[in-house]
Amino acid sequence: MIFLIFGNIFSHLSGTKAKQKMAEQPKLLRRPLPPKLPSKLSTPREKVGKEMASQEKTRKSDIPEEVLQEEKKEKEYIIHYVKSTEPDRKEGPFSDANNAPDSGSVEGDWETRLHFMASKKDEEEKLMFRSQVKVWHCFLNRKTALNLQAYFLFHLPDLTPLMDTLVCLNLSFNNLLFFPMEVFNIKSLQVLVLRSNPIRKIPNDIHRLKSLKKFTISFNLLAELPSGLFLLDDLWYLDIAYNYISYIPNDIKNLRKLEYLNTEGNQLSALPCGVLNLPLKSLRIENNFIHPLLWNEKIQSQPQKLIHLAALCFSTNNLKERYNNITEDIKKILDDFSVCDCCSGPRYGKGLQLIQMYRNVFKFGRLPFYFYACSPSCHRNFVSQPEA
Ligand SMILES: [Zn+2]
Repeated sequence: MIFLIFGNIFSHLSGTKAKQKMAEQPKLLRRPLPPKLPSKLSTPREKVGKEMASQEKTRKSDIPEEVLQEEKKEKEYIIHYVKSTEPDRKEGPFSDANNAPDSGSVEGDWETRLHFMASKKDEEEKLMFRSQVKVWHCFLNRKTALNLQAYFLFHLPDLTPLMDTLVCLNLSFNNLLFFPMEVFNIKSLQVLVLRSNPIRKIPNDIHRLKSLKKFTISFNLLAELPSGLFLLDDLWYLDIAYNYISYIPNDIKNLRKLEYLNTEGNQLSALPCGVLNLPLKSLRIENNFIHPLLWNEKIQSQPQKLIHLAALCFSTNNLKERYNNITEDIKKILDDFSVCDCCSGPRYGKGLQLIQMYRNVFKFGRLPFYFYACSPSCHRNFVSQPEA
């Protein structure tokens, strides 16, 4: 049945009547053909190319063969150079060695190449030379401040001419990997700025800068602060923001003139209780780990050593008077104590840490401080006190 229907249709279409019908309705079946295109495009660019080629041909006929060969070699060299520097560059209409490449792009490429040819060492030497010139300029003009900000220095220039006169030294935004020890010889230094360097450690020798009043070492890689820092009696400004410091020693209480303290962007859970006794006018502590939910890890104290508890018992009960024959070893243990943060009595060993919240201190609503108690009973008594 299906074959019969298809057969009828085929015979119907192949018939003369069908041909006439298709001829009558050509618009429905055939699209009009696009107008005939010329076999080859003759754009203005090609015309220019042709003219240039003909000019080149006439020029070549006038120039000796040796000169032409030299010119060809030079062009080939330039093209080879461009290809070698740009391996992914697609071949364009001027990629052929017979055609000259765009002269502007070649010159630009040469400039770029020359720029990068200046080695890193040369750059460092250039910057070091500039910084040394600055030192001499400072010396000759009898200036007491030296600004070497953003010289990208890996080490300092020779500061010998300024050792007796320099008061302010700005070394921020450099590449100093280590604390520059040379500064310890500048006895009159009062301001030291080391912001934005990759320094990991402050040497304990910083206490040698007896005149230091203002010290900025923010945006470095510090994890701890040395005890020598807290021996700087004249220090009134300390900026240690944006480091990796998780603990500030309670020795900070020794900085009796400290008025400005910036500890932002560190890993602090609380401030040492010694800060409460400082004459601070400005304190910044934002972007730290000061939320109570983050304290559990920090305040897990180790149990106290038995020898420390025994020494505490011996000392608080005044047993020294009863026992006259105390050996030197025991005397040494008994004399090695610090002051308890909670009861102001003797504390042997590190003690037991606790964090207490304080209200309305240094213009903060609530601020946590950590303390070290001398014994479990002292710890218990202090924690049971109402929030200060
Ligand atoms: Zn105590």
